[in-house]
Parts: sequence; structure tokens; C-alpha cells
Amino acid sequence: MTDRADSPKPVFPTAIEVDDFRANLAAVRARIDAAATRAGRDPGEVQLLPVSKTVPEERIVNAVAAGCRTLGENKVQEAKRKHDALAHLDVDWSVIGHLQTNKAKDVAAFASEFQALDSLRIAEALDRRLQAAGRGIDVYVQVNTSSEDSKYGLTPAELPDLLRQLPAYSSLRVRGLMTLAVFSDDAERVRPCFQLLRSLRDRIRDEDPDLIGDGGLSMGMSGDYELAIEEGSTCVRVGQAIFGARATPDSVYWPS
Ligand SMILES: *Cc1c(COP(=O)(O)O)cnc(C)c1O
Repeated sequence: MTDRADSPKPVFPTAIEVDDFRANLAAVRARIDAAATRAGRDPGEVQLLPVSKTVPEERIVNAVAAGCRTLGENKVQEAKRKHDALAHLDVDWSVIGHLQTNKAKDVAAFASEFQALDSLRIAEALDRRLQAAGRGIDVYVQVNTSSEDSKYGLTPAELPDLLRQLPAYSSLRVRGLMTLAVFSDDAERVRPCFQLLRSLRDRIRDEDPDLIGDGGLSMGMSGDYELAIEEGSTCVRVGQAIFGARATPDSVYWPS
């Protein structure tokens, strides 16, 4: 966790007006496309998921006006509050942070996607609520690829067993795997996390393609999304490069 503090952080100016968001979205999208092209991939394979955590509703409205259609939020309470306040807007909500079983009810009520599935208990709790509501949800299974205790997610060894059990929960549409790389500016430490997620996906797809949906890879954030795309990411979750630097320290989201 200390590596990044030692090196200069990229500057992410705060986006306020619709034009600020247009410019940031276009700049990030251009870098996504360039990274994909460099890697010999089709840029159309890479989804940009803007992450609006800590950003107040009055600025989110402008991000939506600039073209954001799906927004990622780490904390369920915050996501639900924003969903309710902005229900008049045409925007879907993706919950990307660790979930306690007692919050499954909330996710089932409003989210269109959940990217941090990491236990059978959560799958069961979500499915029960979703079945009752007659809804389905897209899910990614989160894997801890950095073997840091501060990161949520299954170990690579636990992954196949969970995937084999998920078909029993028919309201959960498995889209692929999600991870957070080690927090470091050193590409030689970050890249292996992304490579590990891809190799896990490839192995499962070879053995039983039905278990992994479209085999998507949600990996890459403001500081490392180009690297993630080079390693096969199909969804980058980008907050600060679109909305501006966050004052809230990351330890709030990934307690160590
Ligand atoms: C906040 C967050 C991101 C985005 O991080 P940025 O540094 O703002 O790009 C991505 N994934 C998860 C799970 C997050 O909580």
C-alpha cells in the first residue's frame, strides 16, 4: 500500500460542469482505445464503467448529461441513496464493493449489476431476494489476485468450486471475473495480477465454458487501466480520471 504514496500521484482535476465530464470521458475513452489497439484488440470489447463513489448527486447529474449510462458505486448505502435521488435519470447502477449478507436485499432492489461476488452465502442471499422480486442481475466473481489480506475476493483455489455452484442461483447471470491489482506504480508488480485473472478465466473456459458466462474480465482503475487492457480487460472501472481526485482514502474501501 505504501508504494503509491512514495511516488507523485497523477493529477485528477475535479469535474463539475457537463463539458468537464465530456472532456474527461473522451480522454479516458481515447486512452482505452489506444491501449486496446496497441494490444491488437478490438476497442469495442472494452466497456468503460465510470465510478461515482463520494461524488455528490448534483455533479453526477452532469456526468449523466455527458453520457454516463451506468455508474459504479462501492458502498451499497451510498449507491441506494443516489439511485433513489436520481431515479428520474436513465442510469443503471453497478455495485462494485464487498457486500454483507444483510445488504443483499438492497442490492437486489435497485442494482443492475454486482461485481464483487465472493461467497456462496452472498449468492444465496441475493438470489432469494431477486427471485422474490422477479428480477435478475449481472454478476462478476471477485478474485484476490494480489494475495494481500486487505483485498476482498476468493483465492484462485476457491474460485472453481464457487463457479460450479452458481448455476443453482438462476437470477444471477455470471458475466466473468473481477479483481483489484496490487496498489503499486510498478507495472512489473501490477501486471501479474491481471495476468493471473486472465489465466484463471482461460482455464475455466477450457474446462467448462458454461460456468463463466461471456468470460468477461473486470480489471483496471484510474491508475492502471491501460495495463489491464493490454492483459485482456473487458471492463475498466474508472473513478478519479473521470470525476476528479477523491479525498477519501482507499483504506475506507479496502480495510487492511
Ligand atoms: C473506487 C473503485 C474503483 C475506481 O478507482 P479510481 O482510482 O477512482 O479509478 C474501481 N474499483 C473499485 C472496486 C472501486 O471501489
